[in-house]
Amino acid sequence: MAKSLIVKPNSALKNKTGSWRTFRPEILLDACIGCGTCAKVCPEGTIALAKINGQTKARINYDYCKGCGICAAECPVKAIIMKPETK
Ligand code: SF4
Ligand code: SF4
Repeated sequence: MAKSLIVKPNSALKNKTGSWRTFRPEILLDACIGCGTCAKVCPEGTIALAKINGQTKARINYDYCKGCGICAAECPVKAIIMKPETK
């Protein structure tokens, strides 16, 4: 039987998607208000909130970020910028 090329749902944590990126999101920590919108909309679930110097900020796990830009588009204070990936 032929092997399926379709990736199983919810398999992102097994399949690192970071190498797919042509653009890389960067969080402007001074601007981030820690609202968590980016973490909710990221299709890879690769953004988490963390305490940095006592303030809640977004943090991206680049092993799984595929550079889709949804987080940057949805951030209410434009605290995420997309930059060309340099590898
Ligand atoms: S959506 Fe923007 S302001 Fe909200 S946590 Fe993410 S980066 Fe910070
Ligand atoms: S660019 Fe896409 S995959 Fe990467 S952190 Fe933002 S929403 Fe998630």
